[in-house]
Amino acid sequence: MNDYLPLSFINQYAYCPRRFWYMHVEAEMIENAHVARGVAHHERVHTQGYETTAAGVIVRRSVQVYSHSLGISGICDIVEEADDGTLTPIEYKQGQRGRWTNDHAQLCAQALCLEEMTGRPVPRGFLFYFGDRRREEVIFTPELRTLTTGLVQAMQRVVALGEMPPHTEQRARCNGCSLYDVCLPKETEQYLVELQR
Ligand code: SF4
Repeated sequence: MNDYLPLSFINQYAYCPRRFWYMHVEAEMIENAHVARGVAHHERVHTQGYETTAAGVIVRRSVQVYSHSLGISGICDIVEEADDGTLTPIEYKQGQRGRWTNDHAQLCAQALCLEEMTGRPVPRGFLFYFGDRRREEVIFTPELRTLTTGLVQAMQRVVALGEMPPHTEQRARCNGCSLYDVCLPKETEQYLVELQR
């Protein structure tokens, strides 16, 4: 599974394909305050183990998952197993709930892995945002599943092609991107405009 794509990068690809390229292909990881907070929060839930609640729910932490059919692997922060066997992945995020669906796609990819590994349906999961301490239910609809598998296939194509994707057209996403100083979207475009003169 060494050549499987890390499923956490689905989030990066959905945010900006170029960001995915920098992080996955060029292994760039610039730590800014936003990233550092995320790492600190994740370290707390990335300690393997499990416990059983009073209601009989088994709560497993840091669960390794994979999908041979999609070619992805990664770690679920939490997987809850109800007494009827239903599995529910929970992903912890720093910050507040965003406007974009990248977190949903990453969580859905975890569900697709769990379904393939166990043969059990995984109908829903939860995202927990440290910033506003909100737990959001995510239903794994056919549309979200299609979006997620489409993103994985697009990532595979980018890696196979070996070409860096262009800057995102949704420039608001560049604000706060930890790779801004590597990517330099404004400066690169200015340079290309000057070349064409
Ligand atoms: S700065 Fe913008 S274009 Fe560059 S990687 Fe970040 S989000 Fe993508």
